[in-house]
Amino acid sequence: MKDVSALKPPPFARIGDSISLVSTPALVLDLDAFDANTQRMAELARRHGVALRPHAKAHKSTAIALRQLELGAVGVCCQKMSEAYPFVAKGVLSIHISNEFVGADKVAMAVELANYVRLSVCVDHPAQVDALGRAATQAGVVITVLPEVDIGQGRCGVKGNDALAALVDRIALYAGLRFGGLQAYHGGIQHLSTWEQRKEAAANAAHATAQYVQFLAARGIQCEVITGGGTGTAEFDVSSGVYTEIQPGSYVFMDGDYGSKDWLGGWKPAHSLYIASTVMSTAKPGLAVCDVGLKGVAVDSGLPVLRPGDHGGHLQYKAANDEHGILQIAAGDTQDYLGSRVYLIPGHCDPTANLYQQYVGYRRDVVECIWEIDARGLSQ
Ligand code: PLP
Ligand code: MN
Repeated sequence: MKDVSALKPPPFARIGDSISLVSTPALVLDLDAFDANTQRMAELARRHGVALRPHAKAHKSTAIALRQLELGAVGVCCQKMSEAYPFVAKGVLSIHISNEFVGADKVAMAVELANYVRLSVCVDHPAQVDALGRAATQAGVVITVLPEVDIGQGRCGVKGNDALAALVDRIALYAGLRFGGLQAYHGGIQHLSTWEQRKEAAANAAHATAQYVQFLAARGIQCEVITGGGTGTAEFDVSSGVYTEIQPGSYVFMDGDYGSKDWLGGWKPAHSLYIASTVMSTAKPGLAVCDVGLKGVAVDSGLPVLRPGDHGGHLQYKAANDEHGILQIAAGDTQDYLGSRVYLIPGHCDPTANLYQQYVGYRRDVVECIWEIDARGLSQ
C-alpha cells in the first residue's frame, strides 16, 4: 500500500512566477497599489498629528500589520479577542479590541493578552466592566477601557451622558482597569455615496463625539484617546479636532463597494485586491463560467466586478453559485473564453479575505511574496 497520509495539493503559487501561472481561485495583491494606499494613509494621519491604528479585520494578516507598523501605525485594531493572538505572536505591541464582548472565555483571553501587549477594549454595559475588572484585578494586569458611545449608528455603544458616566465610574472601581477615553465609530456613514455626504455626516459624528468629551471634561475626566473612523471618513476625521486616532481598514485593498462611491475632491485609495479566476466552461452561448463563486467571494455588498479594461469590458459577473461564477458575455462577442483569466474586484474585502489562506503579492506581473492570512477564521 502506498502511504497517502502526507499527500497534499502542490503550492498554488510560487515566488518569481508570472502571476498568470497562479492556480485559481487565488487572492492576489497588486503591491504597487497596496504600497501607495498604506503610505498615503500613514502620511494623512501623520500630517494631522493623529494616530493611525489600522483595522486588522480587513486583512487578518500579520505580514500586512507589520508593514503598517513600519509606516508609523501605533498598533492595530482587532474586532474579536481570538483574532488578536496571531498579531501578538508576531510582536504587535498595542492592540485595541474595537468591539464589545461578553463571557468568561473572552474575558480570559483579554487577561491573557494583557500580559503581552498594551490592550484596550470597548464596553457599553456595566456588567462587561465588572466581569473584566474582577478578572484583570485578580490576575494583576491592567487593561485600558474605552467605553463606546453611539454617535448615530444605533448598533453598539451607550447613548446619553448618564449611561456614559455610569461606565466611567464603574471602571474606576477596579485596579485592573484604566479609563483611556472613548470609542466613537459610525459605520453607516462610511459608505454614503458622495464625498460631500460623507463630509457632512463625519462632521455630525465628530460633533456628537465632542459633546461626550466635553461632558466628561466638565466632570474633570480627560480622554487620552478618541478613536473611530474608517476608510470612508478618515480624511475628515483627521482634521476634526476631535479624534486623536483613526481606525480605517479597507483602504489597503479598496473593495468594489468603496470603489463605487464618489470621491470627488478627496483621496480615493486604489484597488489593490483581486480574485484571480479562470473561465472553466463555455458550454452555453453567451456565458463564461468561472471558478469563483460564493466560496471565493463575499457578495453581501454586491457582486464582484471585473478589473476595468480587461477583455474589452465584454464580461460581466452576473451570479454566484457555490463554486461557479456566471459571467455574461457582451452581445456580438463570439470569442471562446475557455481558459481565460479574469481578475475580480470583490464587493466587500473583509469577508472575502476571510475565505482565503494567503495573499499572493505581485509587482509588474511577477509574484513577489506570499503572505499568510493568519488570523483567518479567528472570530471568537
Ligand atoms: N472600526 C470599526 C469598529 C469597524 O467596525 C470597522 C469596519 O467595519 C472599521 C473600523 C474599519 O472600517 P473600514 O474597513 O470601512 O475602513
Ligand atoms: Mn467592511
